[in-house]
Amino acid sequence: MSSTIRNAPSCADDRESGVLNVDEARQQILRSITPLSGPERLPIRSALDRILAEDVISPIDVPGHTNSAMDGFAVRHADLDPEGRVTLRCIGTLMAGQSFAAEIGTGECVRIMTGAPLPVGVDTVVMREHVEENGEHITFGGGERLGQNIRQAGEDLAKGSPALAAGKRLTSADLGLLASLGQAEVSVVRRPRVAFFSTGDELRSLGEPLGEGEVYDSNRYTLFGMLTRAGAELRDLGVIRDDPDALRDAFADAAAHADLVITSGGVSVGDADYTKQVLGELGEVDFWKIAMKPGRPLTFGRLGDAWFFGLPGNPVAVMVTFYQFVLPALHRLAGETDWQPLRMRARLREPLRKRPGRSEFVRGILEQSGDNTQPWVTTTGAQGSGILRSMSTGNCFILLDEEQGSLEAGEEVTVQPFAGFV
Ligand code: AMP
Ligand code: MG
Repeated sequence: MSSTIRNAPSCADDRESGVLNVDEARQQILRSITPLSGPERLPIRSALDRILAEDVISPIDVPGHTNSAMDGFAVRHADLDPEGRVTLRCIGTLMAGQSFAAEIGTGECVRIMTGAPLPVGVDTVVMREHVEENGEHITFGGGERLGQNIRQAGEDLAKGSPALAAGKRLTSADLGLLASLGQAEVSVVRRPRVAFFSTGDELRSLGEPLGEGEVYDSNRYTLFGMLTRAGAELRDLGVIRDDPDALRDAFADAAAHADLVITSGGVSVGDADYTKQVLGELGEVDFWKIAMKPGRPLTFGRLGDAWFFGLPGNPVAVMVTFYQFVLPALHRLAGETDWQPLRMRARLREPLRKRPGRSEFVRGILEQSGDNTQPWVTTTGAQGSGILRSMSTGNCFILLDEEQGSLEAGEEVTVQPFAGFV
C-alpha cells in the first residue's frame, strides 16, 4: 500500500481524471466570451493597433485614375514595331497631378511622369531608359509589351469593394490605406478595461521593507506589462491580504469597474477554500485543474458583469497562463477575428527530459542557425515556476504536448515565440 497521502490535486500530479487539457480549457474560455460592445470613433492615427468595429467600404477607386507606373513615354502600342526602331513625335509633358485634355494621335507620344493620369489614345508606357531622345523626336526599340507600366484605376481598391474587414487589428499599412480612401476617422472596438490585483500575506509592495519569508509582488508588474502590450485599460488594485473580507471588497470593486478581472495567487490548494467561498458569493466560477506545467490551477468564470481569471501565484505560471488563456480571451473580447499565436518548428540543441501526462511550456532561446536554414532552440536552464529569469532570458516557449516524452538533441520541436507580448 502506498504511504502517500493525497487528498487534493497538486502541481506534482502527472495524470489524473477531471483534468482539462490546455486546448479544452482555452476553447471553453473562448466559447463563453463575447466581444465588447460600444465602439468608439477615432482619428486614424489614434486607431493604430486597435480593432476595427465595422467593415470599411471604399468610397472611391484607388487609384482614382489610370496612371503611369514609370517615368517614360506614353504611346499607342500599335505605333511601335515589335522587331525594329520607330520614332514618334513628343507633343507634351505630363507631371503627376496634371491631366491632358487632347487625345494622343497616331505617330505621337507624350512624356509622362510616375503617377500622371494616362491621356486618351495611349495604352502603353515605355520607360525613359529604353528610348533615345532627340528634341521632340523619340526613338523606341522593339520588345515593349502592350499595357505595360500602367496602373489601372481601382486596381488597389475598386469603389464599393471592402477595404478592411471588422475584427482586423489596424496596422501601419491599414492607416495608409484608410488615408488613401480619404477617411480621417474610423470606428474601433473600445479598449477592454482590466482590473487586477495580487493576493498573498507574504507579498510586499515596492518601497516596503521585506520581512522574514516575504517577497516583493512581481506579478502585478508582469501583468501591467502584458496587459499594456495587449492594449487594455488598466486598474491596478494592489496587493490584497488573504482575508475573506478584504478579498470580497477587492473582487466587488474590480468587477464593478472592469470587463475583465485578473488575480494572481490564492487559487492553489492552500488558499482555495476561502477564495472559493468569496467567489461563490459574488459570481459563477470554475476551478480548473489543467494538464500543464507550469500553471496547473486556473479559475475562470463570471463576477457580476465581468469575466474573471484567477491565475496561479507563481511568477512564471502567471505569464504562461496569461499567454495561453488570457491573451486569446483579450483578442476575443476585442472582436479580433483572425488572431493566431505564432508557432514554428526548431531543432533542439540539447536533450530535454519530460514525462508524458501534461503539456509543458519550457522557456527557450530561439536562434537562427549560422547558415540561416533552420532555427535552433536551447532551454533557458532551470525551469522552476518561480524562476522569472527564465522568462526574461527566453524569447519563446518550447511547446511539449501531453503525450510527449523525453527528447534527444537534434530533434524537432514546436516553439511559440514571445513575439512582443513579454
Ligand atoms: P499561491 O498560488 O498563492 O499559493 O502562490 C504560489 C507561489 O507564488 C508562492 O511562492 C507565492 O509567494 C508566489 N507568489 C504569489 N503571488 C505572487 C506575486 N504577486 N508576486 C510574486 N510571487 C508571488
Ligand atoms: Mg498565496
